[in-house]
Amino acid sequence: MTPLTEQDIRAAFVNCSKGEAKRLTVPRDLADRPWDDLDYLGWRDPRAPDRAYLVTVLDGRPTALALRCPTPTARQPRRTMCAMCLTTPTSGVSLMVARKAGKAGQQGNSVGTYLCSDLACSLYLRGKKDAGAGARLPESLTLEEKIQRTMGNLAGFIATVTA
Ligand SMILES: [Zn+2]
Repeated sequence: MTPLTEQDIRAAFVNCSKGEAKRLTVPRDLADRPWDDLDYLGWRDPRAPDRAYLVTVLDGRPTALALRCPTPTARQPRRTMCAMCLTTPTSGVSLMVARKAGKAGQQGNSVGTYLCSDLACSLYLRGKKDAGAGARLPESLTLEEKIQRTMGNLAGFIATVTA
């Protein structure tokens, strides 16, 4: 994806207030991120581990989501598959919840999805990060097709947030 600046990212959030977007934690090492290998940039707030964020570029426009990772009350199944990249990394998959955009969000509506806990889908797809034994099912798709599928899944999730 195209490298983004902190300003681009803060302006891209679709499901939090302008004030929240201004205050939330954006990685300081943006210049060093492997943008060429990223379909989206995801990060966790080191000061608030239940908060995660991701930003991608959809139709040429940066689009970012604020996510919560609620503490699981029940034990989650040991191996859950990420709904974006279809990997089952040994480092885990988390249920992440996005408050819906606009009025629906103000009324408390949210949507959830399972995502790689470390938000490293792009690196798992490209084999740049080891997801562990048996983490990916053998597939005949090309990397390009897997990336397209992941982006389709992500765009679909963002569409349910902004719907
Ligand atoms: Zn993933």
